[in-house]
Amino acid sequence: MHLDVIGAGPAYTDRPGATGASYLVRLGGASLLLDLGQGSLARLAATVDPATLDAVVISHLHPDHFIDLVGLRHYLRWEKPRRRVRVIGPVGLDARLDALHDEPGFSAASLDVEVLSEGTLRVAAFEVQAARVTHTSSSFGFRVSDGATPAGTGLVYSGDCGRAEDLDVLARPGDTLLCEVSFGPGPVVAGAGHLDGPAVGDLATRVGAGRVLLTHLQMGFDRDETIKSVRARFDGPVELVDPGFETTILG
Ligand SMILES: [Zn+2]
Ligand SMILES: [Zn+2]
Repeated sequence: MHLDVIGAGPAYTDRPGATGASYLVRLGGASLLLDLGQGSLARLAATVDPATLDAVVISHLHPDHFIDLVGLRHYLRWEKPRRRVRVIGPVGLDARLDALHDEPGFSAASLDVEVLSEGTLRVAAFEVQAARVTHTSSSFGFRVSDGATPAGTGLVYSGDCGRAEDLDVLARPGDTLLCEVSFGPGPVVAGAGHLDGPAVGDLATRVGAGRVLLTHLQMGFDRDETIKSVRARFDGPVELVDPGFETTILG
């Protein structure tokens, strides 16, 4: 599996180019997009034709994770009118998109929206496991794999997550952990529903992660200190990713 980081930003930032969360996973000819936050459609379209995506999976209904579905819908409607894209997200996603345009049927014109629930689903060559995480009333983390190899080949994506232990059920030893680290070295502000470096480091050690890719760092936090705070709790490789980062997830 190949991972392209399309957008790795938080809800707001002073870091130019830090667009909303979006991660492209490819395997053979199949492609799956995890989230499509603010401003990330352009890099996505420069990387792959969005009309060819096998599915977009949305972790939760915060705009930094889904709002560029509006642009994707426009792209399909006007550039690729014969193409539709499967979108799997928390209940109410299609209504949110329709409301933004004050137009019933806006999303249904080009998107096949399905309600996401806990469990395992197939998307082309991918197996996607979804588990609820503590954040909004309907937020999910995921494990993406080829569905064939039992361990060490999965990508676990936290979405936004206020309790690292929620991800334990998804991760298998050797997996790549793509994890939010909103509050940098910490601590997390009470009730914020996010993670910090020590929590991510403990998680990675607990589940035996192969490596950690950090993302969703909020403004004002130091990058190096953030990485250091994870390394203090986890012995494996740790990186903080930005748009343009790509890597292969090996078995
Ligand atoms: Zn977010
Ligand atoms: Zn969020």
